[in-house]
Amino acid sequence: MDKIRVLVTGACGQMGRYVARAVSEAKDMELAGAVDPAGIDHDIGEIALGHPMGVKVAGHLPAALDQVKPDVMIDFTHPDVVMDNLTVALKASVPCVVGTTGFSDTDIKVVERMCKRHGVPCVVAPNFSLGANLMMRFAAEAAPHYEYAEIIERHHERKADAPSGTALKTAEMMEAARRDPFRLVVTGYEKLGGSRGGEMGGIRIHAVRLPGYVANQEVAFGGVGETLVIEHLTTSRECFVPGVLLAVRRIREFDGLVYGLEKLL
Ligand code: NAD
Repeated sequence: MDKIRVLVTGACGQMGRYVARAVSEAKDMELAGAVDPAGIDHDIGEIALGHPMGVKVAGHLPAALDQVKPDVMIDFTHPDVVMDNLTVALKASVPCVVGTTGFSDTDIKVVERMCKRHGVPCVVAPNFSLGANLMMRFAAEAAPHYEYAEIIERHHERKADAPSGTALKTAEMMEAARRDPFRLVVTGYEKLGGSRGGEMGGIRIHAVRLPGYVANQEVAFGGVGETLVIEHLTTSRECFVPGVLLAVRRIREFDGLVYGLEKLL
């Protein structure tokens, strides 16, 4: 069977390096290309695996796609550039697996339209970890049984967006599982603006940013005389890798946009 030829954008970043290594080690995949302005002309093997592998990091995505002709592109870059990368890749008929977060509702609609227009599938998942996806599913299951809920997400200090895509997706799934919005606890006097976090569908969302965290989330439900807490903890970015590889293997089964890893589980 032919190997799946993969190009990774953001290949020199924290996630990109894990993904590049995992792709190069997967028996059914080939790391055919790497794009990242931070590592132009360096061997991606030296950056991601500690030894050269003969694949140089490119800086210009259209030229790299043209040269490599990958079967799938994986993007772990930045909210400011991901839409441009997708526009180029989908137009070139390259299916995309996207881990970059920070998409607005409008961005998602634009990606959906581009997939339709070019007849190319794209998987966008705010969280590729199995545990996080189960946490979201369990939170949606608990949602109709409680009137009050808050989400506290904790990430490393370099995360560009807040709240996390996972927190927003969790809130969206919790809202969809209910007939009425959650009831908001209104604090009469907020001494420090923003102390009660953001709000979506009656759910307060709090974003903590500190060195030392990878990506944690707690969903707390309040009931009469009880609290239910569903918590997902990560210790390493490796937790996202199996979900990314699963999406690469399965992307061709789908038409258009798939939003969320749960559709692949
Ligand atoms: P990072 O800053 O370490 O890496 C981003 C890399 O993208 C950098 O090396 C940067 O040079 C590169 N880059 C910037 N512009 C580029 C462009 N136009 N083309 C190609 N590469 C470009 O960030 P990170 O921690 O690796 O996270 C990357 C993204 O993935 C973030 O949006 C983060 O929130 C998200 N993320 C998602 C998941 C998930 O499961 N979906 C998990 C972890 C992180």
